[in-house]
Amino acid sequence: MPCPASAQENDMAENTFIVRIKRQQRPDEAVRWEEYELRRRPHMNIITCLRDIAEKPYTRDGRESTPVSYDANCLEEVCGACAMVINGQPRQACSALVDTLEKPIRLEPLTKFPLVRDLVVDRTHMFESLKRTKCWIPIDGTYDLGAGPRMAPAKQEVAYPLSRCITCGNCLEICPKVNQHTQFVGAAIISQVRLFNMHPTGEMHAAARLEALMGPGGIEDCDNAQNCVKVCPKGIPLTESIAAINGQVIVHAIKSWLFGEGQRPGAGEVPE
Ligand code: SF4
Repeated sequence: MPCPASAQENDMAENTFIVRIKRQQRPDEAVRWEEYELRRRPHMNIITCLRDIAEKPYTRDGRESTPVSYDANCLEEVCGACAMVINGQPRQACSALVDTLEKPIRLEPLTKFPLVRDLVVDRTHMFESLKRTKCWIPIDGTYDLGAGPRMAPAKQEVAYPLSRCITCGNCLEICPKVNQHTQFVGAAIISQVRLFNMHPTGEMHAAARLEALMGPGGIEDCDNAQNCVKVCPKGIPLTESIAAINGQVIVHAIKSWLFGEGQRPGAGEVPE
């Protein structure tokens, strides 16, 4: 029969768990790891943990700290903002449930983007890459264009999964070719080029998107590690997209060689 004190300790151990967080006030500040002991509640996710810490920012050894900075918005795996490295894997904090995670839980910021503070990073690079590869459909909004062109259901079935990208950056985080020595745009961007090149209006400018992927940091930088597809929270077939765009780039290069610079269909600038 355990004495009342140790029964209470056991109860505490079962109802609490440890979260270790990598913290930095500024990118140039030394890294420090903080440990928090949190009370377990049903259906907790990582965002709930970070909110609990914000309410009582005391480390496990009783030291007063500050709330942890993190990005989050929709809390339903749609906005992509709360991507971070959880137990060594890039994933969304909102869909990472405490009961399913190995303890102690380890939280770190994504490493392939500039650090802002604690778990917040600056993902501008991804949005700039989308601009560089012209991932939009040019339409003139100054007058009513009427109904858009129809897309065959078979094509819609391929396009819809691609349209679910939330620009979280997990696929870039896991990719060995996305690093400070390369300009590789990453799988998400290549997949978006595939999506916009499939669109009945977007395909008019397919060549311009392919050209953007033929230079430094483009499709040639992919070494086919195939890690990207394993961490995508939306199940996007990224390796299929890379293969499809590789094929399009080869055909485009052959056409450019045959028809010459001025003859390439759709090679003009994409209107903004
Ligand atoms: Fe995130 Fe998947 Fe989009 Fe990559 S492709 S940014 S992992 S949603």
